[in-house]
Amino acid sequence: MFDTVESAVIVAIDGPAGTGKSSTSKAVAAALGLRYLDTGAQYRAITWWMIAHGVDTADPAAIATAAGKPAIVSGTDPAAPTIAVDGEDVSAPIRTPEVSAKVSAVSAVPEVRSRITALQRSIAAEAEAGIVVEGRDIGTTVLPDAHLKVFLTASPEARAVRRTAELAGADLAATREALIKRDAADSSRKTSPLAKADDAVEVDTTELTLAQVVAEVTELVEQRRAALR
Ligand code: C5P
Repeated sequence: MFDTVESAVIVAIDGPAGTGKSSTSKAVAAALGLRYLDTGAQYRAITWWMIAHGVDTADPAAIATAAGKPAIVSGTDPAAPTIAVDGEDVSAPIRTPEVSAKVSAVSAVPEVRSRITALQRSIAAEAEAGIVVEGRDIGTTVLPDAHLKVFLTASPEARAVRRTAELAGADLAATREALIKRDAADSSRKTSPLAKADDAVEVDTTELTLAQVVAEVTELVEQRRAALR
């Protein structure tokens, strides 16, 4: 499925919000010289565009009609990942509470998913040394032939504490509630829901430091990469 050089390793890292996917994926990719793709940022970017263009994010038909319009470009350097829409850097505005509250509804629309999935596959196919792709449906749908699939989990409490620490001024109880609501929506949608692939390695990060998770996943990638040579 991948038109890449022989040793290109494709890694899928999925899981709910606040499990450490982004931090882990970036660190593993940087340590191993791989590219890095944040697929959540792409869904956030298309959601930001819908809001900016007055598209009703509660109207799936309106979202479907507009899904092909924004040009989304992801920069895949793990040391400095970027996300742009129609040439505009949207790294900051895609992290607002408004985008977080609306992204599940937008990303549940099949026309949005098929467009973003195609983009993700082409980015992965072009990553000559290999890539770490993080999201919700990477191991199940986007890259089902990935050489390594990891599914990160953590208790809702641990996830809420981590996310609150990331967002200056955020309230713990409200953050916990918003995370749980978003996970429920992401897990229950019809098209490619948040799910663990049957062949994914599950890592519960509740009691682990980031360094421990990174070490464990790096080791798993190195094992799979050695098997490709
Ligand atoms: O990873 P992050 O929390 O930034 O993702 C934002 C949202 O994008 C998720 O809550 C989900 O609705 C959507 N998403 C998705 N599929 C992915 C990645 C993210 O539906 N592969």
